Amino acid sequence: MRIAIGGIAHETNTFSIVPTTLEDFQQGHYAVDESLLTKYTGTKTGLGGFIDAARDLNYQVIPTLMASATPGGIVTAAALATLVEGLTTRLDTIHTKTPVDGVLLSLHGAMVSELDDDGEGYILRAVRQVVGPEMPVIVELDLHGNITPEMVSLASICVAYDEYPHTDPYERGYEAGLLMAKMVREGIQPTPHIINIPLLSGMQRQYTHAEPMLGLKRLAHDIETERGILKVSYLPGFPYADIPHTSFTIIVTSNGEPQLAKAKAQELAAYVWDWRDDFVAQPVFIDEAVIKAMQAPAGPIVIADSGDNPGAGTPCDGTVLLEALLRLGAQKATVGVIADPEVVKAATQAGIGATLSVTLGGKVDQLHGDPLPVTATVKSLSDGRFTHTGSMLTGIEINMGPTAVLEIAGAQGGSVRVIVTTHRYQPTDLEVFRSQGIEPTEQKILAVKSLVHFRAAFTPIAKQIIEADTPGLSSPHLGRLTFCHLKRPIYPFDPELKWKPS
Ligand SMILES: [Zn+2]
Repeated sequence: MRIAIGGIAHETNTFSIVPTTLEDFQQGHYAVDESLLTKYTGTKTGLGGFIDAARDLNYQVIPTLMASATPGGIVTAAALATLVEGLTTRLDTIHTKTPVDGVLLSLHGAMVSELDDDGEGYILRAVRQVVGPEMPVIVELDLHGNITPEMVSLASICVAYDEYPHTDPYERGYEAGLLMAKMVREGIQPTPHIINIPLLSGMQRQYTHAEPMLGLKRLAHDIETERGILKVSYLPGFPYADIPHTSFTIIVTSNGEPQLAKAKAQELAAYVWDWRDDFVAQPVFIDEAVIKAMQAPAGPIVIADSGDNPGAGTPCDGTVLLEALLRLGAQKATVGVIADPEVVKAATQAGIGATLSVTLGGKVDQLHGDPLPVTATVKSLSDGRFTHTGSMLTGIEINMGPTAVLEIAGAQGGSVRVIVTTHRYQPTDLEVFRSQGIEPTEQKILAVKSLVHFRAAFTPIAKQIIEADTPGLSSPHLGRLTFCHLKRPIYPFDPELKWKPS
């Protein structure tokens, strides 16, 4: 049994003015042929799961191409065309030489390209042209996918992450590998049913360790144990995509029983719809968030800079929360991170211990706060590289590029340290601070540019977590973004909407 593996993954924020190019993928996670196996074997990633399942079930995996870039603006036509050609040319060569029995792909589900609003549909059409309509093609997806019926029809089975923060790409990759063996060796007949629920859900409410997602996860897992059901995926979707198919998706795959898949998908969709009010985020005003954190008896208090989450495609140079921390006189506060290559260069030239006056952040667009004039002391300089040791992306090396830690004096004797990076990075591991000589557990306030992923690493150390209502391309107030292409009606924009899964 020979299974080709690979993938192309991107989460596209269509509101971003910065397009995602081929270079972004090549500088992201990019590997081809044998180097793919070297890079991913032993990692807690989807590819790592494919590879381990093959080892345990005694089948061969043949690497093609894996490319993913940091979430950002629309993927250029040249980038998607080149990557898809890289993937399908390799697949064609491998399959022509010695036929493969199936294809395992790690995709995302929320890629929007100049070539197609449905990036994954585009990729799968190209893969099907090489391997034909009958070949088992099992796709691992991020829980943030906005999924079209066409995409589901092109894949044999869709296996989406169960958890947000995404602590289970490896487990779902492994599960996809198990399902592949069942398809090839046991002849199971995957029969999927998809329901797109007209619900634009706030990302903060997609956290899977609290309601409403916790109950949905349990219900999905119960259904998965029922006879005849192969896989249940629930995808609350990525709301920062102004495309017709942005929605909350349920996919239930049965073993040759379409009516059963449909009934179970309807049961899950009805559950989601009943909870629709709870999928609207309720963030805290910025000053209120900072004052609450300052008044707390002990730290660390983690404040989420919700509107500028680079993991949702934002610039990562927003200054609004930093400005509030300085103005209100916060003590022992650290901001992780602000991406500003110009300031890193200036700090590097000035050297450790030097004082410099710079304009920090707010440079990419007008939506994340103004550039902030500051006088800062350079506390440390580094290459910005570290390895994730927590439960998300375990073992994956991060490269934030040259990085400087600046200390800035605030009002009333306050003081804020800022990790200034060259590249964008969503703080999802405590090493982002420790690698810069800052012990996060000793800070009073940690401000992180993240919506939910930070919780995997920071919940265990946080005395309290506050979600701040900062402005930006990942604003928790979805009504602040101007949607033109979304399919209407949709909740909560059309609050009177009556809907039933049918
Ligand atoms: Zn995601």
